[in-house]
Amino acid sequence: MTTHNEQDWLKHRKNFKDSLSVDLLFEGIRRGDIPLLSSAITLVESSVESDQDKAGDLIEKCLPFTGKSIRIGITGVPGVGKSTFIESLGVQLISQGYKVAVLSIDPSSELHHGSILGDKTRMNTLASSSSAYIRPTASGNSLGGVAQRTRESILLCEAAGFDVILIETVGVGQSETAVHALTDFFLLLMLPVAGDELQGIKRGIMELADAVVITKSDEMPEKAKLAIQTYQMALHLFPAKESTWTPKVLSSSMYDVKSVESVWKVIADFEMQIKQTGYFEVRRKEQALFWMKESVREMLWKQLLKQETDFIQKIQSEVSDGKISPYKASKMVYTKLIEKK
Ligand code: GDP
Repeated sequence: MTTHNEQDWLKHRKNFKDSLSVDLLFEGIRRGDIPLLSSAITLVESSVESDQDKAGDLIEKCLPFTGKSIRIGITGVPGVGKSTFIESLGVQLISQGYKVAVLSIDPSSELHHGSILGDKTRMNTLASSSSAYIRPTASGNSLGGVAQRTRESILLCEAAGFDVILIETVGVGQSETAVHALTDFFLLLMLPVAGDELQGIKRGIMELADAVVITKSDEMPEKAKLAIQTYQMALHLFPAKESTWTPKVLSSSMYDVKSVESVWKVIADFEMQIKQTGYFEVRRKEQALFWMKESVREMLWKQLLKQETDFIQKIQSEVSDGKISPYKASKMVYTKLIEKK
């Protein structure tokens, strides 16, 4: 039950949210106003239909001012050193005049009502800089939904003038594939243990990496060297990338600024290469189309669930009980959809 104070606060918050017009948010974002950028991202994350319409208008308005950043996905198991690395890279970039946004996707927050990414005090120096913006994604959304909203948050950050966008995700779930489809460069952080032990990172995630960084090389320098060799060999076995980029393997340490600089150099080289070959543009266009299709799929599914709740529930339980194949079930759902027209 909510108390009087809470009710007042919720009402006040709702009034405040409603008072923010698309124009006001747009102008705020273009000025680089962080509180208004945050409100805009909250709007994008909202599941209320009127908020979604407003968010759609806002994104539309921002679109001409987007696309100029480099979008970097960073993943690795909890404890590998993601926040330490992002803090160190972010601080370096800011000192070079960049504006850095960090968007964190934490799938655990929806599954376990807890958060792997958010529980600790993270990235203190970066968080206190006026050239940085750190934002965890709201929990409780479907993976597709989170990805869609993260994509829109990226656009808002770009319109607000951020030129490096780091999308952080915990390398334990399926969110990596989505993050890969949202970013230009995909960075995988690994602990300095080589051999068969892939630290819970699936092969598929390794295959996505444009660079693997072995963290904490100060603790185990010999193991880090060995890990570099092992991952270099492992990456070699994957098919060549469409970008024609050869993935790099490096090591880093929080005590060695130069090691983090080297990772940035690799990212900068990658950006230069794919811009020269034209792949940068091609991939961004492909990604935009991919997300449009995903979004249509999600809308149709939601609509079906709403209109044909009983039918969908029945067919879902038949599929999970193995009574009917997923393909046959999808044909039946499809037929239902067509019949409606
Ligand atoms: P995350 O969960 O992946 O974000 O990992 P954190 O950045 O929070 O790091 C987990 C722990 O590893 C922290 O205690 C860090 O201080 C430590 N750590 C991170 N990077 C390094 C490093 O380069 N060297 C050493 N020795 N410790 C590190």
